[in-house]
Amino acid sequence: MKVQFLASSVGKHSTLQFLSSFIIDDFISIDAGAIGLLSSIDVQKQIRHVVLSHAHIDHIASLPLFLDTVYDTHSDCPTVHASEDLQNCLQCDVFNNRLWPDLLHMPNGGSPFLKFSTLADGQSVQLGNVRLTPVSVDHVIPCFGFLIEDDQAAIAFVSDTAPTQNIWDRIRNVENLKAVFLEASFPNALQQLADKSMHLTPHDFAGEVDKIGRDVSVIAIHLKSRFRETIVEELKSLGLAQLEIGKPGHTYQF
Ligand SMILES: [Zn+2]
Ligand SMILES: [Zn+2]
Repeated sequence: MKVQFLASSVGKHSTLQFLSSFIIDDFISIDAGAIGLLSSIDVQKQIRHVVLSHAHIDHIASLPLFLDTVYDTHSDCPTVHASEDLQNCLQCDVFNNRLWPDLLHMPNGGSPFLKFSTLADGQSVQLGNVRLTPVSVDHVIPCFGFLIEDDQAAIAFVSDTAPTQNIWDRIRNVENLKAVFLEASFPNALQQLADKSMHLTPHDFAGEVDKIGRDVSVIAIHLKSRFRETIVEELKSLGLAQLEIGKPGHTYQF
């Protein structure tokens, strides 16, 4: 399984993550922070499924641009997989003919710009040879973590969330689990802000790694850019053997 952690900065290559998007085997995107900024239209066009965790802007920022760019009257449109709540939010707050055209109802007849597919907690969907299971996590708005499996490997994305439990129960016995991408948004000094916005600090991160209870790589993602250095220092000081700091722009192979 190939996982591209998309870079999200303009200018010289940077380890800062402003936006969230991960491309699986070239054709599935988990979240849509930066997919609409990919410089090759052919690479954008290969993405046939966009799977959304939640509505926050760092996760959907480039979705309208992406859908506009890949639109093609002669081929099938991308499928956007999202909870019912999130579909309503996109319809009311994004594709509302104010912020962006109502792509869901245009053009009249002919090829649509996108189609929705509904994600529900714990219900797996099969996309090509990839099986994807959304599991609700604990964030300020409804949010899914994901278990993603193919014949060789399984990985999990757990972002954005406060301390959580269901997804750890769900992945505990998954064969071939190779890695967990886990958020670490704020430094320990901002624990109160992390609690209020329902994110993790390195202190919380250690607690979540403990709940995984098995020996897999844990890749820290969603480090707030302003505090990145401190968060990395605090994560490293946890002394976790399985810790990796996620690198935007890097391609992982599992
Ligand atoms: Zn969020
Ligand atoms: Zn986020």
